[in-house]
This record gives sequence, C-alpha cells and structure tokens, in this order.
Amino acid sequence: RRLGSLKLTPSVQKLSIIMDDKEHEQLNQYIMIKDLGRGAHAKVKLGLNKMDNNLYALKIRNERVRVAEAAVRKEIAILKKLSHPHVLKLHEVIDDTVSNELILVLEYAPGGPIFTRFNRVPLSEKVLHGYARDIVLGLDYLHSLEIAHMDLKPENMLKMADGVKLCDFGVSVDSELTGVTRSTRLAGTPAFLAPEMLDETGYDPMPSDVWSLGVCLYNMATARLPFTGKTVFQIVAMAKSTELKFPDEDADAIVNATTVPSPPPPKLSNLLKDMLRKMLVVDPKERISIAGMMEHPWVTEEGKKPLGRPRTKSPSMKLEVTEEDIDNAVRTNPLAAILQP
Ligand code: ADP
Ligand code: MG
Repeated sequence: RRLGSLKLTPSVQKLSIIMDDKEHEQLNQYIMIKDLGRGAHAKVKLGLNKMDNNLYALKIRNERVRVAEAAVRKEIAILKKLSHPHVLKLHEVIDDTVSNELILVLEYAPGGPIFTRFNRVPLSEKVLHGYARDIVLGLDYLHSLEIAHMDLKPENMLKMADGVKLCDFGVSVDSELTGVTRSTRLAGTPAFLAPEMLDETGYDPMPSDVWSLGVCLYNMATARLPFTGKTVFQIVAMAKSTELKFPDEDADAIVNATTVPSPPPPKLSNLLKDMLRKMLVVDPKERISIAGMMEHPWVTEEGKKPLGRPRTKSPSMKLEVTEEDIDNAVRTNPLAAILQP
C-alpha cells in the first residue's frame, strides 16, 4: 500500500497495517452500519454480515478503559454455555490478532434496552409484567446453571421483536468455572448493588442478583430508584436503614426528585409491592429466590399466558435498517468504522 508523504495518525497507521493482512477476512465480512450503544466496558455497533445478510451487534472493547483480555474471554466462555430464549445469543467471536481486537458478534436486539434509569415516565404494570416474566425465566435459567449475572439493570435487558433478553455477561460469575460459591468482588452499578456486596466476609452471588432485579422492577414501575445516594456506601446505608417505600404511599419516598416536575406517582398493585418487598430484603438468606419468584402470584397469576410459553420465531430484523443506512455504511471503510472511537 502506497501512502506517499501522507502524515499518518496512529489510527490510520493501525488501519493500514490491518488492511494489508489476510487475517481480517472475518472482520471484513461485516459492514458497520451505526452505533447501538456504549457501556462502561464496551461500544456496540450494528453490523451487516455480507455472507448471511443478517444484522448483528458487534461488541468491541472500549479503547479508553480497555478491559483485560481475560475478562472478555470469561464473558465469551459464559456466553458459549448459554442457550435460552431470554438470553442474548453469541453468534461468533472475531479474534483479530493483528489489531488485537476481540469482538463478540451477538444477535441484534432491534428494540434496544427496555428502560434506562434516567427515564422519567414509568412503564405501565401490564407492560412491565410482560417484560418481567421473560427476565425471570432468563434469570432462573442462569441460576439453574450456577451462573449469576451480577450487573442486572434495565440497560442490560434488550427488547427483541418477540420478548426480552438478558445481555452483558461482562462481570458475571460462573460458580462452575471459578469453583467459588461466595464472592468478594465488587462489580456492577451502585444503585443496583445488593447491600451484602459490601460485606468483607463475601456474599453469595445468586441472592444479590435478586436484589438487583428488585431495584430494576421498582425503577421501571416508578421511574424512581428505591435507594439513592452520592456513593455506593450511602446507597447501601439507605437500603439498610430505611423501610422500602413506594411513591404512591408516601411523598417522602420520592427520593430522587429533581427540579424537573415529575408526573404523579404511579399506583402499583399490591401483588407487585408484595413481591418487591420480598426481593428487597436486606438479609440475603431471608430474600426470595428466583425459584420463589417463579411461583409468586404477581408473576404467575396476573399473566394471560402460562409461564414458559413457546415463542414464535422472531421475524426478520432486516427491515430496521434502511437502504440509505447501508449505502452510507458501504461508503465508509468497515475497518475504519470499527477503529473509530
Ligand atoms: P458493557 O459491558 O460495556 O455494559 P453491553 O454489553 O451492556 O456493554 O452493551 C452496551 C450497550 O449497547 C447496551 O446497554 C445496549 O444499549 C447496547 N447493546 C448491546 N448489545 C446489543 C444488542 N445485541 N442489540 C442492540 N443493542 C445492544
Ligand atoms: Mg452493560
């Protein structure tokens, strides 16, 4: 490749090395279309696979806070064990040794995250109920394999055409892989962390997932967080010292009120409140388990369809991207799209 007297920026240099290499064939199969999202550890891009003509989500390590390769390998090992209608599937791994990129090619969730903790409008209980049943099934499956998710939050729950799937196994704990049933690692997102995760003696990862899921459901049902604070210590202190309150019961419970006027507090059903009270129990031994949740009347009785219903195959997702998107994407170099921050 002749670059003449061009002054090369580091990323162009990196790109020119990559483009001369045959090993990029796997990566070159994908046309990068647009950004899908970004988490603490990764950026995710929508890619069109030229071979099968399907869309995929390519999860690429964030170059600023570069996750250790071992951590990505662990996420891959966990994803490879999983196969469930409510867990996001791994399609393939692109291990590009030249660029040192380790890319997870995941099934694409066109609906994106079901909610974010910054949303001001809560979900209706009916919609939440539909989502929650999918998530409970997915989490029950994980826990049955001795895998704890460890970062349950609405941003890690993705909407497909036919239901919700759990994603992001970046900090998950697989007891079978690690051989430990108690953990001392502090990972996850402060507002969703179970209080026992700050205990020096360690904690059992499965009940802490149930706590986080309780915070998720509370958050989506009310557009508020049950426990708040500036630091994880303040949040946990509030969780330990105050009784769980719902916004429709007590004006004081509007804990994250801001200057922006919020809509009137939503009314939650007594069954949902009962379940949340059983999930957000400070003592992990007293907390309801995922198996218990599968039998809780809010999960079982309010639904129109029985749990574990067979699902129809998702319709083609290709319509979500316009021809114009693809034209634009083809005009840009796919490798450049991967490497740009
Ligand atoms: P991190 O480990 O950095 O949190 P995630 O796996 O959670 O990375 O991905 C970050 C964000 O990218 C998600 O919150 C979501 O918005 C988006 N995303 C991830 N995977 C997909 C997917 N398969 N389809 C659509 N959007 C996705
Ligand atoms: Mg995430």
